[in-house]
Amino acid sequence: MIMMTTAIAAHIIVETAFILDKFSPFLIQSDLFGKRFNSYGIDEKINNAALQTVLVGIGMKAIVFVAPNKIVVKEVGKPRTYKDDVLVKMRAVAICNSTDMHFLKGEIEGITYPLPPGKPGHECSGEVTEVGERVEGLKIGDRVVPGPVYALPCNHCYYCVQGKEELCENPGFADYAYAEYLKIPAKYCYKMPENLSFEEGALIDLLACALHGAKRSNFSVGETVVIVGQGPAGLLLTQLANLAGASKVITSDISESRLKFARKLGADVTVNAAKENLVEKVLELTDMKGVDVAVDAVGRPATASQAVDVLKAGGRAVIFGFHLKPAQINMARVFDRELEIKASFRTVGELDYRTSMNLVSSGKIDVRSLITHHMPLEQIRHALELIEKDLEGVVKVILKP
Ligand SMILES: [Zn+2]
Ligand SMILES: [Zn+2]
Repeated sequence: MIMMTTAIAAHIIVETAFILDKFSPFLIQSDLFGKRFNSYGIDEKINNAALQTVLVGIGMKAIVFVAPNKIVVKEVGKPRTYKDDVLVKMRAVAICNSTDMHFLKGEIEGITYPLPPGKPGHECSGEVTEVGERVEGLKIGDRVVPGPVYALPCNHCYYCVQGKEELCENPGFADYAYAEYLKIPAKYCYKMPENLSFEEGALIDLLACALHGAKRSNFSVGETVVIVGQGPAGLLLTQLANLAGASKVITSDISESRLKFARKLGADVTVNAAKENLVEKVLELTDMKGVDVAVDAVGRPATASQAVDVLKAGGRAVIFGFHLKPAQINMARVFDRELEIKASFRTVGELDYRTSMNLVSSGKIDVRSLITHHMPLEQIRHALELIEKDLEGVVKVILKP
């Protein structure tokens, strides 16, 4: 009797601990109150600490960014699937070299910590382990790429109804991917071609973003192109420019190992921007004219102005990198030469994901070479450090939950 009571008491304490814990799982559906919640019932736009709780399910491992530069591995409830959702066992999750670094350092305005479990993981692939009762076209065991995890289009705002999902005014979110399982509406899960590995699948989200950037750049046969920055997205943009038939692809970076990668993946000329003046070098290589298209795949004030300054008259600059600070652009130059400046932020969703999978499956785009490191999910801190300090020739790290 005494033992039984102790066991019950211990159980209650454990449950209370879960309930008081803001990461405990909640049985709130994704469309409750007309808002979008993840499986934990957290509406990030309101306040992720003001929560009602109902404990569910058995646990799973998830990464939690508790504060800038502080990450823990936590046991949280496994999400439950309803109606139109599927549950995906994460088999490969890639670190996003841009967004995740900003979250790590606390550089994004208006974000409060701790982040919901699994956030900001979004480059992932996995296997369907549960399907909601209304799901058609996906079954348990299917190998899938979910996405875009961070911006599920609302499908009814001003832009969505015009078919411009990438500009959705009210994007929702699924669960995030730094966890063992991810719940997401089935319509945002795309079956992988058989010859794609889970590791390649985890890079499809990044390729879909780069593909959107390539479409916004409108690379055409015979054009000259500059890709500023050869991080993972820059390396994919270099390949996409080649695939589109660019006559010359000039790439820049400040890392020799990245430039070596760029040459391997098809860059015609590489410029080390730490040692050489990119704009002068590009003019030299183009009879002092400049290039047709330049993409800023870094996101710093200097790289945005480089992308404009390397253009010939009538040229196009595309801002692809994530900018945190305002940049100075020479508007007189933009005016005189009738330059175009565009941006590329999100993907068009299904179309870009499916095209990206086809490009990898057919061998036209190489994502595999970008993967330099593999490690268990628990070693995320080490993975982020490699990227932050640019160690061991790192390009993409795959985590295995
Ligand atoms: Zn990403
Ligand atoms: Zn919308």
